Amino acid sequence: MSKTFYIETFGCQMNAHDSEKVIGTLERRGYARVQDEVDAGLILYNTCSIRDKAEQKVFHRLNEYKKMQGEGKRFAVIGCVAQQEGEKIFERAPYVSLVAGSASYRNLPEMLTRLEAGETRITGLDDRQTDETFETEFTARSNPHRGYITIIEGCDKFCAYCVVPYTRGKERSRTAASVLVEARRMADEGFTEIQFLGQNVNSYRDPSGRMSFAELLVAVGEISGVRRVRFTTSHPRDFTKDIVDAIDATPTLCDHVHLPVQSGSSAVLKAMAREYTRDWYLERMSWIKAAKRDISITSDMIVGFPGETDADFEETITLLNVVKYDAVFAFKFSPRPNTPAVTMADSIPDEVKTERLRILMDRQREIQREHYGRHLGQVQECMVESYNTVRRQVVGRSSQNKTVNFTADLDNLPPIGGYVPVRITQTLPNCLVGEALAAGPNVSDAMFFVPVVRKPQFVVLN
Ligand code: SF4
Repeated sequence: MSKTFYIETFGCQMNAHDSEKVIGTLERRGYARVQDEVDAGLILYNTCSIRDKAEQKVFHRLNEYKKMQGEGKRFAVIGCVAQQEGEKIFERAPYVSLVAGSASYRNLPEMLTRLEAGETRITGLDDRQTDETFETEFTARSNPHRGYITIIEGCDKFCAYCVVPYTRGKERSRTAASVLVEARRMADEGFTEIQFLGQNVNSYRDPSGRMSFAELLVAVGEISGVRRVRFTTSHPRDFTKDIVDAIDATPTLCDHVHLPVQSGSSAVLKAMAREYTRDWYLERMSWIKAAKRDISITSDMIVGFPGETDADFEETITLLNVVKYDAVFAFKFSPRPNTPAVTMADSIPDEVKTERLRILMDRQREIQREHYGRHLGQVQECMVESYNTVRRQVVGRSSQNKTVNFTADLDNLPPIGGYVPVRITQTLPNCLVGEALAAGPNVSDAMFFVPVVRKPQFVVLN
C-alpha cells in the first residue's frame, strides 16, 4: 500500500472536524493526501447515519470502490455508519480492511500500523465504554482563519429518534487545560475564530473540575488574537443563564445561540424523550431575549414524529411566532435503526409530513423577512469568507452567523479571513446586503483586521 490517501467525508461539523484530525494523524505518519481515489493507496470514507439515505449512500459508494480492489488499495470505513454496522460491513464489502467508529479514533495510529503490516478486518468499535477523547498533536484544518475544537464527544441524552448515542459513545469532555492549549496554539497560527463543537456542547463537564462551560468560553474569548468564539450544538436541558451572561459580558463571544427545540408541543417532546417542556424551553428563550446584546437564535425542528396531531403541529407554529428565530433547520421524521422510535408506529403519512414541513418553512421565511429588517442601517463587523465574482460582491459572515453580501472597493478588496465594517443597506430572508465602510472618524479601527496566517510546522514520524 503506497503512503497516499484519499478521504471523503459526509455529515455534520463533528465529522468534518474528525476528518481534519484523521488527516493530521495520517500526514504525521508521512502519508500524502491525494484528491482522486484512483491515485490513493488508502481510501477512507467518513460516514454519517443521521438520515435514512446516508446509510444507503455508503454501500452504494463501496460498490463503486469494488472495481478498484486488487490494485494494492486498502479501504477504510469510519464514522457513524461504521460504528452502527460494524463487522457487517466486511460481509457486504469484503475488500474493506478497516471499520472504525469515532469513539475509537484515539487508537488510529495502532490500527494504521496493523493495516500497514497487511492485516485485514481491523475494527475499532466502542460500545459506550471509553472515557477518552480523540486528541491529536496535529489537525489538518481546512480553513486557516476559523477552526473547530471538539470539547465534548458522544451523547447521553437518548432522544427517541436519534442514533448518535449508539454511534458516538457516551458523553466525555476534554480537560479545560487541553482545550486552552489548543486554542492558544490556533491563535498563534493566525486563527481568529474558534468554534467549540459537541453533540451537546453545553453539556461540557471539565474532568479536572476547573471550569464550567461558560467559563471556558470566556477564557478562550480572552486569548490574544481570538476575535470570535462560537459553539454548537447546545441542548436545552443543559442551557444555563451563565452562558447568556458570558455572551453579554465578552464581546468576542459571538451573539448567536443555536438551541434545537425539535417541537413546540410538550406532548411530542415527551414522546421524543427530550426531557423538557415547551415552557422550560421558552424560559431559556426569555433569558436570551432579555440580554443586553441582540443575540440571534436558531433551532432545529422535526415534523411528523409518531403521534404528532394537528394541534401538536400548531404548537410548533405558534412557537415560531413567539420566538422569531433567525433561522430554523427542519426535517421530516424518519425512523433510524436501533432507536426507540423505530418501534413506534410511523403513523404520520409522508404527504402530511411534507405538507407540515412546507407550512413550517413558509411561516419561518415570513418571520425571517420581517425579523432581519431590524438590521437595516446597522454597521456590522464581517469576516470575509469569499468573493462572488458574478455579482462583484464580497461574501462575509457577521458575528450573529448571518451571511452578508456586500460591495467593496474592487481595487482594494478586503482579504479572505479579514474583518471589515459593513453598513447594512438591504435585508433579505436568508442574508443581509451592504457596503463596506472605509476607515474614518465614525468607524472604529478595531473593526478592520488583516489576517496573518502562520502555517503550523510538524515533524513527519517515519
Ligand atoms: S441530544 Fe438527542 S438529538 Fe442530540 S445527539 Fe443526543 S440523542 Fe441525538
